[in-house]
Amino acid sequence: MDLSGKIALVTGGSRGIGREIAIELAKHGASIAISYVSNEEKAIEVIESIQEYSVKAMCVKADVSREEEVERLVDTVKKQLGPIDILVNNAGINMDALLIRMKTQEWDQVIDTNLKGTYLCTRLVAKDMLKKRYGKIINITSVAGVAGNIGQSNYSASKAGIIGFTKAVAKELASRNINVNAIAPGLIETDMAQALKEEIRESLIKSVPMGRLGSPKDIANIVVFLASDKSDYITGQTINVDGGMIM
Ligand code: NAP
Repeated sequence: MDLSGKIALVTGGSRGIGREIAIELAKHGASIAISYVSNEEKAIEVIESIQEYSVKAMCVKADVSREEEVERLVDTVKKQLGPIDILVNNAGINMDALLIRMKTQEWDQVIDTNLKGTYLCTRLVAKDMLKKRYGKIINITSVAGVAGNIGQSNYSASKAGIIGFTKAVAKELASRNINVNAIAPGLIETDMAQALKEEIRESLIKSVPMGRLGSPKDIANIVVFLASDKSDYITGQTINVDGGMIM
């Protein structure tokens, strides 16, 4: 799958799944921009590891939940690399609590980062994709958005919202040769999964027919496919990558 000449923006590319997606897209020849919200050192490390693939790479600090920061992010990438061909809306957080104990601030922050962030980045980037009549938009949702999860009403709502958003935008943009798809990872070995309470983590692993956590590479592989011309006739879909957890 050859992505040379393509320009990709991966939000939340400093760690975990986003880091692996950025590296894998670079291996296939795309120039890479990643965004992060606080971990500058880790973002720079990712850029340094991408440079071995002889593609352009850059990072920008930008909170995806803030419109002015997303505008600055997209502008900076366009100025330094050019208009974006591949957008991966990966930045995401969880702030878990049972519904009756949930604080409205925890609800708002998760919805604003995961769902509003995906909307803000997509709206801005889609404008240039429409002009070029080309684009690949890949939204990282979660099995929690498909099946729900105890203690994650805010997170599940944000991720279910991304699935609906993916379908609506796929219909709006399909005639202009822009594909919009979502990936729903199961439990993937990253800082986010590490932070889960041990008993929740264990019960989630037990619910995986393949009996193990996924790796960030399992997600990055399908992103490369959805970013490539091999997936040109696929749009509006949510692909579960979860060892069989949801079927
Ligand atoms: P992670 O290791 O916690 O990394 C999160 C990334 O998002 C970091 O790069 C972080 O930047 C960035 N980020 C967080 N808030 C942001 C904001 N407001 N603006 C911009 N960037 C922000 O998470 P992960 O496990 O790799 O998850 C990546 C995506 O996969 C998320 O959307 C998550 O919901 C989804 N997912 C994960 C799992 C899993 O089991 N891990 C399962 C299903 C879905 P900093 O480094 O600067 O903090």
